[in-house]
Amino acid sequence: MCVTALPWRDSLEPCFYGGNQLFKFGDKGYDTLYIHQDSLFPKSNLSYIICPMAEQQSEYQGKATMEKITSLAKRRGFVFQSSEIYGGQNGAWDYGPLGIELKNRIAGAWWKEMTQLHDDIVGLDAAILMHPRTWEASGHVENFTDPLVDCKKCKARFREDQIPAENIAAKKCPDCGGELTDTRKFNLMFKTHIGPAEDTASIIYLRPETAQGIYVNYKNIIQSNRMKIPFGIAQIGKAFRNEIVTKNFIFRTCEFEQMEMQYFVKPGTDEEWFNEWRKRRWAYYEKLGVKMDNLRWHQHGPDELAHYAKDAYDIEYLFPMGWRELEGVHNRTDYDLGRHTEYSGKDLQYIDQENNNERYIPYIIETSAGLTRNVLMILCDAYDEEQVADKGNDDDWRTVLRFHPRLAPVTVAVMPLMKKDGLAELAQGIRAELKEDYATDYDQAGAIGRRYRRQDEAGTPFCVTVDYQTKEDGTVTVRFRDSMEQVRVPKAELAVRLREEIKAYKRIK
Ligand code: ATP
Repeated sequence: MCVTALPWRDSLEPCFYGGNQLFKFGDKGYDTLYIHQDSLFPKSNLSYIICPMAEQQSEYQGKATMEKITSLAKRRGFVFQSSEIYGGQNGAWDYGPLGIELKNRIAGAWWKEMTQLHDDIVGLDAAILMHPRTWEASGHVENFTDPLVDCKKCKARFREDQIPAENIAAKKCPDCGGELTDTRKFNLMFKTHIGPAEDTASIIYLRPETAQGIYVNYKNIIQSNRMKIPFGIAQIGKAFRNEIVTKNFIFRTCEFEQMEMQYFVKPGTDEEWFNEWRKRRWAYYEKLGVKMDNLRWHQHGPDELAHYAKDAYDIEYLFPMGWRELEGVHNRTDYDLGRHTEYSGKDLQYIDQENNNERYIPYIIETSAGLTRNVLMILCDAYDEEQVADKGNDDDWRTVLRFHPRLAPVTVAVMPLMKKDGLAELAQGIRAELKEDYATDYDQAGAIGRRYRRQDEAGTPFCVTVDYQTKEDGTVTVRFRDSMEQVRVPKAELAVRLREEIKAYKRIK
């Protein structure tokens, strides 16, 4: 981490709350400067600006930085800090108008991939609140802990496994060199009470993963939907973890969403299915148009592998702060259904009616991805800055989000060249027609070039411009976000042309 200290200036502009990044300093040759402030500290007491330039990995070649992504997300209404007017809530974020559209599209793409395109996978939406015995059976009450250390001097808090071993050995804070406390085990589950009595009998947990909702419904789904092994159950939903360190924007948060699919297989076929699901999950990201050079596999070594897992791989993405887990593909053996059998007393064996009523506890292959972490990945992957050379002006740059058109929050923006002479009405009519099939936006404010830039920054793949020629011959200009090329298309053919463009979309940069 690079830390720059500068004297306090009054001109600091409030930026983000929560964590310790509070004020953004103007463009004094730095990309972004943040002031480090304890939120209880009066402003007048501050004397330094500290610039924790988020760790930037030398391996990372993209144009994004976490600061740029966070700033763009806020400016354009993708993601806001939760309860910002009260100083923000650490580990929680709100998805604004563009963010919720992007998140829904990513969830939709995953849901389609898993359920619509796989006859042997069905969906589920289980409750967040589950019987507390669930979490005893799953091992979360006992084992879902992080090792926590605090610095006695600067009060920074760390996960022991995320700071250098030499600091642990020397009990030395990696930030200020102060003395570290002994390691404590800290359970990540949020615990609360259900009902009026706050006693041990009323304890309930906010689920820390969606998977358990699938396991406890596995028998219901077999019976109600006559599923036969091998089959899968897919679910998207909220999960909660009392994370010690929430940093890097929405990468690691206390409230987040997961997209999990649990695939039930006959023991002995598990390795084959495990490999198959690894292939399928890799192909999925390729289909989404993600830069595949930024993805890699990481196999869990013996010290990382959960005690019940036979094999586990993570798909990692090269974020601006380095390679980080995006999704896990795990062979969980018969551990989960075995434990739920033991704790619930219910027989969760599968009866294979096509094979002499053979009984067995299925093995589970899990694919578990963070939805909100995928939002961050897609934002970083799509982010680009480009000098707009054809203008012949060195200062003319654009920021563009090169989302796959299927993921873009707005698919098509319609704009009249001028507000007058009936062009606005004509453009609104075209937008009304496109609305049924596409997510649209309408913009008539400012110069056309600026309007295109605004749409580029929101990741809108197509802009349709209505001009005087439209009045004469019924054609409009379609402008493509990535190439900035423009073509004229009869307005009657617009909806079909856009569908073809989306289907044929290939990322060019
Ligand atoms: P990590 O090592 O990053 O803490 P994990 O191995 O504990 O993750 P899993 O329990 O396997 O994660 O969860 C599956 C997926 O859920 C992760 O790959 C990640 O995408 C997402 N995820 C897990 N924890 C968080 C979190 N605190 N915030 C956002 N997404 C998360």
